[in-house]
Amino acid sequence: MSIEQKVKNTLKKIKLNKKEKIIVALSGGKDSTTTAYLLKKLGYNIEGFHINLRIGKYSEDCLEAVKKLCEDLNIKLHLYDMKQEMGSGMCYLRTSIQSSSGRGKLKNCAICGVIKKWILNREVRKLKADKIATGHNLDDEAQTFLMNIFKGSPKLSANSGPITLNIPDKKFVPRIKPLFYIAENDIREYSKKKKLPVVYDSCPCALDSYRIQVRKFLNTLSKKDKERIVNNFEKWIVRLDKKDDQMIYCQLCGEPSRNKICKRCELMKIT
Ligand code: SF4
Ligand SMILES: [Zn+2]
Repeated sequence: MSIEQKVKNTLKKIKLNKKEKIIVALSGGKDSTTTAYLLKKLGYNIEGFHINLRIGKYSEDCLEAVKKLCEDLNIKLHLYDMKQEMGSGMCYLRTSIQSSSGRGKLKNCAICGVIKKWILNREVRKLKADKIATGHNLDDEAQTFLMNIFKGSPKLSANSGPITLNIPDKKFVPRIKPLFYIAENDIREYSKKKKLPVVYDSCPCALDSYRIQVRKFLNTLSKKDKERIVNNFEKWIVRLDKKDDQMIYCQLCGEPSRNKICKRCELMKIT
């Protein structure tokens, strides 16, 4: 089945409505670029949102790619510059967090991921969007699921899926993953075939050795095996007891959180 047909089926499965306002989180990489391209091609109402992390030349290239994509697709682009909005780029912020006592072992991507998620939800909510679309693919999902199992916390994957399964909350913008069932290699091939403006270099800060190890292991498996992992994971999450699930608001920033203090504020308050 073609990528386009698989994405169509996924969007049908999650009942995405063409009238909804969808903000695509654009990084400049192949996955989010392909997500925006396909959503637009299939007639959805999308706009782009890009966080300029200020990671030197890499971020400059990503910004250029994202601007070009939005011009080509004729969609609005919202920009968030970390230096302007938060006073420093991701590298400086992350190093300050890692040099605080007891936090040296926190991985670059773990810190960056928490901060980006926080920015995304807050800013997209201000734009009154119905959904956030991200470029997560089959390989990402299989990696995350396995990592959570290996860490002994499979429940951390409980709200994941092609659409977030959180309890609805007025401050939380639901997230969708149109490429949830598409393998990374197929996306790379497709984005090249369509000549999409993509930065194919890896982020210079991607040093999460554990995820890299899990990725290497998964790459020894076939695409069918990765699909089986993700499909079994989906069957498994519907059986989870979610009665403990609740969304509260962070006492420091007011954003939705599972704990009294959200993960981002936990990181920021020790810098
Ligand atoms: S690869 Fe890691 S550090 Fe780089 S942008 Fe992504 S999450 Fe952030
Ligand atoms: Zn907070």
